[in-house]
Amino acid sequence: MRELGGDVRRLRKQFEREAERAQPAVATGSDLSRRLRSSITETVQIHGLWWNADYIHDGVKRCRRHNWHWHKASWKSRDAVVNRRTGRISLDLSLAEDSANFEVVKDGWKKDRCAICSWELFESEDLHGTGHTNGREWVCMECYEKLWQRPDFISSSYSDIT
Ligand SMILES: [Zn+2]
Repeated sequence: MRELGGDVRRLRKQFEREAERAQPAVATGSDLSRRLRSSITETVQIHGLWWNADYIHDGVKRCRRHNWHWHKASWKSRDAVVNRRTGRISLDLSLAEDSANFEVVKDGWKKDRCAICSWELFESEDLHGTGHTNGREWVCMECYEKLWQRPDFISSSYSDIT
């Protein structure tokens, strides 16, 4: 184990966290290194954070479940409608026709989150200001470039569409 440079207790804890898939067999050194390697390939780095690849894969699948057209766009604030009584917000501007109950707030919707990694998108000159959208949801540039273009993420989508 020491040759592998790993702290046994730390590694064991890591494996316990992933125990759903783990084999009950006793881990020898080579098992351990193999499993350690495989656990590394099952993570994806997005904005400097390591994510469980299954979780991210599910997010990509969710975004691709319907045959949306995604296009690159700058994030812009949107008008929102507020219920005068409850203060609750809707993006359905047609509610404003009922002006006794609803009020339009110009640029009231200030941010969205990446549908995959929850990265914040808002009006900005930097990476937060641009993403891909289907008009309803947003995906950050990093998720789009890293995940959309990976064959394993794309292949699962086609089977959802056809
Ligand atoms: Zn993202």
